[in-house]
Amino acid sequence: MMKTALTIAGFDPSGGAGIQADLKVFHLHRTYGISVAAAITAQSSTGVSGIVPIQARFVKEQLRVLLADLTPDATKIGMLYTGANVRAVANTIMKKGLRNIVIDPVVFSSSGKRLAHREAVEELKRCLIPLSTVITPNLYEAGFLSGVRIRDVDDMKAAAERLSELGAGNVIITGGHMKANAIDLLYNGSFHEFRDRKRAGQFHGTGCIYSAAITSYLAEGKSVLKAAELAKVFMGKAFTSTFSTGKGMRLFGI
Ligand code: PLP
Repeated sequence: MMKTALTIAGFDPSGGAGIQADLKVFHLHRTYGISVAAAITAQSSTGVSGIVPIQARFVKEQLRVLLADLTPDATKIGMLYTGANVRAVANTIMKKGLRNIVIDPVVFSSSGKRLAHREAVEELKRCLIPLSTVITPNLYEAGFLSGVRIRDVDDMKAAAERLSELGAGNVIITGGHMKANAIDLLYNGSFHEFRDRKRAGQFHGTGCIYSAAITSYLAEGKSVLKAAELAKVFMGKAFTSTFSTGKGMRLFGI
């Protein structure tokens, strides 16, 4: 039986992040991808120039129609942008009893653009993170959401514990922005580290691709621990296919 994964995220015309990246990752894992747009962005490898949010009632309508047709094996939530969209998604998850919820708590782009209103961040903490199976913040997002200043693995551990207090059963802080090695930290009551070497350069879409890979593995029925292990290996391979347009960040040629 074909596994299905849903992404609720932002539309990225460059294909490097958001819905487009998620669908490519699902496809690579032979998972059938479905998608709901929560925001449309104007961007390229050089950065985000504009964002138009989708109205919450239309996010709900997309979800209503899609979920009347099928129930995804796993769902990934990326850029929702507005507090109203966060509430709409949280309501749908509860109403439909969706399982295997991966939240990539997107706040800023690598190029520095704000990808979530202040209210969206508050609502994410209040009503969406408690519904998650796993959240996958990067170092900056983990610091921002937890209030912990992260400089090393011990700080990552402190931040992960704080984030789990928000109601996330599993917290994975991705360490691609660390100075030396790229250490991902999973906290599920105990700590697990996944190590790789640090990749030099700036990449567009890393967080989206990582969390979409985790979503694919959960859709396949794998545990979060196994998914974190496999996603680290998948990212290692994905980094071998990056390319540059010559103008901005490197894109993943997946
Ligand atoms: N655009 C969309 C729609 C995203 O979801 C994200 C990240 O989640 C970004 C842009 C930013 O990607 P990056 O910071 O890798 O450039």
